[in-house]
Amino acid sequence: MGATPSDSPDRRGGLVPVIDRNRCEGKAECVRVCPYQVFRIGVLSDQQFRELSLRGKFKAWVHGSKQAMVVNGDSCHACRLCEAACPEQAIVLARRAAPTVEKASS
Ligand code: SF4
Repeated sequence: MGATPSDSPDRRGGLVPVIDRNRCEGKAECVRVCPYQVFRIGVLSDQQFRELSLRGKFKAWVHGSKQAMVVNGDSCHACRLCEAACPEQAIVLARRAAPTVEKASS
């Protein structure tokens, strides 16, 4: 029986992408490069906006509060394509510690 994507040796270590909310500008490179549909572009919740730095709030305001959201973190295979593609260096892979679906305002 052949290997399936879910038993890929790359999908190990419990890694999941974490987005630096003060860096993300919602340019969607992560959405484009991720082979497993881990991201989508959404709008920051009021709580997420409140937690930004002053600079982060300004950037969010300029970009309509649109940022990348991790909506399917359990599918991450730790290929690191998103880390390499992000023009703002806003993504790092980190150990999975909690539920990996973020809620955004719609
Ligand atoms: S590391 Fe790979 S699989 Fe995981 S979110 Fe980034 S692009 Fe997708």
